[in-house]
Amino acid sequence: MPSNRPRGLKAEVFALRSTGILPASLSGKDDALSPFSGLDRNGCWEIRWTEGARLGIFHGMRGAVIEILRWGGGRKCRQAIKSLRNALLLLLVLMPLARGAEEVAHGLVRACSSIYPPPLEEVRYATTYNFTGHVLYPFPVVYLHRDAAAALQKVQEDLASQGLGLKVFDGYRPLPVQAKMWAIVPDERYVSDPLKSRGKHTRGTAVDVTLVDHLGNELPMPTGYDDFSEKAHRDSAKWSLEQRANNLKLEAVMQKHGFVPFPFEWWHYDLRGWENYPPLDISFEELARGVETAKPAD
Ligand SMILES: [Zn+2]
Repeated sequence: MPSNRPRGLKAEVFALRSTGILPASLSGKDDALSPFSGLDRNGCWEIRWTEGARLGIFHGMRGAVIEILRWGGGRKCRQAIKSLRNALLLLLVLMPLARGAEEVAHGLVRACSSIYPPPLEEVRYATTYNFTGHVLYPFPVVYLHRDAAAALQKVQEDLASQGLGLKVFDGYRPLPVQAKMWAIVPDERYVSDPLKSRGKHTRGTAVDVTLVDHLGNELPMPTGYDDFSEKAHRDSAKWSLEQRANNLKLEAVMQKHGFVPFPFEWWHYDLRGWENYPPLDISFEELARGVETAKPAD
């Protein structure tokens, strides 16, 4: 081994990079852990390539990987990293076949890792930056019913061919969160009454979206997200030509692939036949654990 080659743990990370599994662009100050900075809070971590391609590794991998890196150098570590490399290569081969296999529970899937190219996600309900001013979701993930995700996949492909993409604000919403929102805005033009219709987002078939360009910049739309004013209504006469054109573009592609536009919010779409899907009462924490025992919503 040349004397200037990194040794120990650094050498192992170097070896992983040289396979191309960990691209050099992911390296940072800390040779040991920085390649894995894409770790998310949901037990499923991601490696992002420079062009935005994404590989999701399933639950359980996070702990294993961190352990391997902490072992440091030596034969044990080399063997572990070799196994990890093989597992990653296998996943790379299987990923195209695995679409739909990421179902977490009750037909719900994580939108970011089941749609390619992945839509941008801006889950404001996981922050205080939303109309309630409260953190409503424990982590920023958009879950959708697999049928809605499959339709959104086609939308995303269609948009990609035009140099555009989706940004997703919200998908599945647990029933108690719906009730909280209703308590704040008891107006059915903007929030579904959880006691009446049980909501639409609660079925995983509703999605709040906007359009972004190839750099991820939002295209000008009639209002901001969750602007509960008449300007957000689809029949508003207050839209500029550019806003109208962008909204029409979004509406056309969403309708083409099976979504129905909601009259009072330009960002809200329901999967056609949404009423045939049951409302769910399963929390994000339960979804993250893949819990299948949701309480019936009735
Ligand atoms: Zn909505």
